[in-house]
Amino acid sequence: AKSQGKGRQVVYDERMDHRTAEQSRVAADLRSALDTDQLHLLYQPIVMLPGGELFGVEALVRWMHPERGPIGPGLFIPAAERTGLIVPLGAWILEEACRQAARWQHELGDAAPRTVTVNVSARQLREAGFAGEVDAVLRRTGLPAHVLTVEVTETAVFDGGTALDELKAIAALGVKIALDDFGTGHSSLGLLRTCPADILKVDKSFVDDVTEGGEPAVIVAALLTICDGMRLRAVAEGVETAEQAAELHRLGYRYAQGYHYARPMAAEAIAAYRPAHSAQ
Ligand code: C2E
Ligand code: CA
Ligand code: CA
Ligand code: CA
Repeated sequence: AKSQGKGRQVVYDERMDHRTAEQSRVAADLRSALDTDQLHLLYQPIVMLPGGELFGVEALVRWMHPERGPIGPGLFIPAAERTGLIVPLGAWILEEACRQAARWQHELGDAAPRTVTVNVSARQLREAGFAGEVDAVLRRTGLPAHVLTVEVTETAVFDGGTALDELKAIAALGVKIALDDFGTGHSSLGLLRTCPADILKVDKSFVDDVTEGGEPAVIVAALLTICDGMRLRAVAEGVETAEQAAELHRLGYRYAQGYHYARPMAAEAIAAYRPAHSAQ
């Protein structure tokens, strides 16, 4: 069966489960979204504990569909990865974020975010010459390499092939490397020895329960010990409450990100960000 979509036909296979069919439809629309300004980036502050001052930002992509309204990245990023569209989409995201970062440097000086983090998916990292593309974007935008952080998941690095080589080449440019959602994939601590990581993002699932003591708190504490010993910057993700922030600070964490401090916001709002909460 076929369904008609805005002047073009979208192949629809009834055997596909709902989610897969949805993803195919989404992927078809995403192709045109890239050309027609439907995508934009929001930036979520990464703050310092205990005061909540701005340290950096993470770029998070948003899609405003003309008929369907806002579509979250949780739906369209997987579709883009399966179809390979993540490669041009990711290239656009990288360039847009670097352009904005360079603008902040120029306009805000010392008050500019010290790092601008861009999520890079496994598929992008596997693409030959990705590190060269990062270099080209830095040159085009004039952004100093040390201001950019490329954020990858453990699974992306384990993807095998050339992913680790690309990552090393990116690190050699002076770009920072962050390991996202740490502890949720098939993590191996060995990855920390082979991968040129600078930052470790401690996953929200551990942060959620950090105030209850027990295993999550032990893991959160142990990850910080590893980070300190290896000179990695530990960032606690998904901090939603003052209690979590206080506990993270007590454990020795110095960087956090989450709704307790700020939601993802438009680039223009970043200059006006002021801490509303401290962790004490
Ligand atoms: P992620 O990289 O782990 O990003 C963090 C997600 O958690 C974001 O969701 C953010 O809005 C959300 N978040 C931040 N603080 C809190 C909190 O305190 N509580 C809760 N409940 N959520 C919080 P978002 O923007 O919907 O993105 C979801 C995922 O989509 C991202 O997870 C990332 O894997 C992917 N994604 C988003 N933007 C991009 C992108 O530009 N490129 C790629 N490759 N993936 C992206
Ligand atoms: Ca991320
Ligand atoms: Ca994350
Ligand atoms: Ca996540």
